Amino acid sequence: MYTHNLPFLKLFMLLSLSGFAMHISNPDPLVPASLQSIHLNGHIKFENLTDFSQDFGNRFSYEPSAVLFPASISDISATIKHVFQLGAQSGLTVAARGHGHSLQGQAQAPGGIVIRMESLRGTETRLHAGESPYVDVSGGELWINVLKETLKHGLAPKSWTDYLHLTVGGTLSNAGVSGQAFRHGPQISNVHELVIVTGTGDTVKCSAKENSDLFYGALGGLGQFGIITRARIALEPAPKMVKWIRVLYSDFTTFTEDQEMLISMEKTFDYIEGFVIINRTGLVNNWRSSFKPQDPVLASQFNSEGQKLFCLEMTKNYNSEDAETMELEVIELLSRLRYVSSTLFQSEVTYMEFLDRVHVSEVKLRSQGLWEVPHPWLNLLIPRSKIHEFAKEVFGKILTDTSNGPILLYPVNRSKWDNRSSVVIPEEEVFYLVGFLSSAPSPSSLSLEKNENLEIALQKNKEIVEFCHSANIGMKQYLPHHSTQDEWRAHFGDKWETFCRRKQAYDPLAMLAPGQRIFHKAPLPLL
Ligand code: FAD
Repeated sequence: MYTHNLPFLKLFMLLSLSGFAMHISNPDPLVPASLQSIHLNGHIKFENLTDFSQDFGNRFSYEPSAVLFPASISDISATIKHVFQLGAQSGLTVAARGHGHSLQGQAQAPGGIVIRMESLRGTETRLHAGESPYVDVSGGELWINVLKETLKHGLAPKSWTDYLHLTVGGTLSNAGVSGQAFRHGPQISNVHELVIVTGTGDTVKCSAKENSDLFYGALGGLGQFGIITRARIALEPAPKMVKWIRVLYSDFTTFTEDQEMLISMEKTFDYIEGFVIINRTGLVNNWRSSFKPQDPVLASQFNSEGQKLFCLEMTKNYNSEDAETMELEVIELLSRLRYVSSTLFQSEVTYMEFLDRVHVSEVKLRSQGLWEVPHPWLNLLIPRSKIHEFAKEVFGKILTDTSNGPILLYPVNRSKWDNRSSVVIPEEEVFYLVGFLSSAPSPSSLSLEKNENLEIALQKNKEIVEFCHSANIGMKQYLPHHSTQDEWRAHFGDKWETFCRRKQAYDPLAMLAPGQRIFHKAPLPLL
């Protein structure tokens, strides 16, 4: 049977902490025989599993012993029951893999079983129209497919991520945040019901009213309490079109004051985000293919080189019959903003084009070989009262340019997040999501050589995190990654006790989502 041993543990810990691309293959020869006895509608694969030891972060790679392609919820339940019955001594773990877009191996199971959740996709997407519409979808469904399906009925989910080729279960295990979160809260605030297979193999329907402890635990629960196999997602009437606007600021205070004013208003834009641009050449020209400048002459004279700029990005939804009203509302809202006047850029696209916008970049980057590269991303939640101190130190001092990828920065309202969920956020009513979304392609074609770009990006991330700690910023990580249980305890703060209690209740052998590195299957010592 698969058992951890101390040298392996030490190696695992060492590699986990080093931050460089690594690959561990640790298949257990006894696993296939044991799993083949399970009666399944789908199937299990034991060979050629490399694809399941990769993720978007491209830095951590742990090969599983087996991959389950479930054709039904009962396949997932039977597999987990089987592993549960093997007991603590087996060391075998189970990880649900959504679209594998984690950054640090969170959807991987070293030597364990990966469940390919996308195989559950398409299992009966059921839409309920009416006054409070919703859709029941598989936990392995991609959000892009949820959008396509619901648009057929003139409806769509309310809250999104910037990129839709992620699974429902994957984003609900984190939070799911984008420019609609100020109004609707994150995706986890827009779920009515879940069907979860727990770490004992039990299938449990849960909601705010029924089995609510598991429901809230699983939302933002980093996959620790069970596998989300179905989710009931709140819908709203979908607009056909979107007015998409970008304006630039050179002053951070004015930029954030305007962002905060917009998210506090009743009648405001439908999506509000922002990003930081440091020392970029030809920025405005780059936008021209998709955005029309309000004043082409003045815009062409605008020079981004050597500048620290802040872009406010907003959209207003509309249908052709209310285009005029929308234009008036946009003019009124823009008149309140204090951006650099020559930098108003606008575009009109379909709702689908807007929501699926990052996929366009993906296609382009893939064609240049720049998608499957290391992504040393760092996502932080910063309380409003500290955002200026944070910006002063980070933008310009720690980071002197943004050529490696965008830096998102936008505020959201805490009151739209449910404190009963597992996700951890700062204490203040307004806090900022700041996402350092770096790419680190290797400067050399020789893969064995050190990737200097990655080392530099990781060093900058470290400096940013250390600054937050030393300056008492009250920062929390989003898509958190920590190396020790003390760090996890600090991350969860006063939610830690509840998190541990739920783990004991729903995954007593700690077999689920080992790639998060929060708990380790007994009888292992904690890393
Ligand atoms: P995976 O990476 O496969 O899994 C993530 C974790 O959840 C793992 O621990 C896994 O075991 C667990 N898990 C997966 N499925 C289930 C399930 N059904 N039940 C229980 N546990 C499960 N996030 C945002 O909030 N906002 C954004 O705007 C945003 N933009 C992004 C853009 C890009 C290009 C990328 C790559 C990521 C972005 N993310 C964003 C982050 C994204 O939400 C997370 O990385 C998410 O985990 C990815 O979903 P996935 O389906 O690939 O999950």
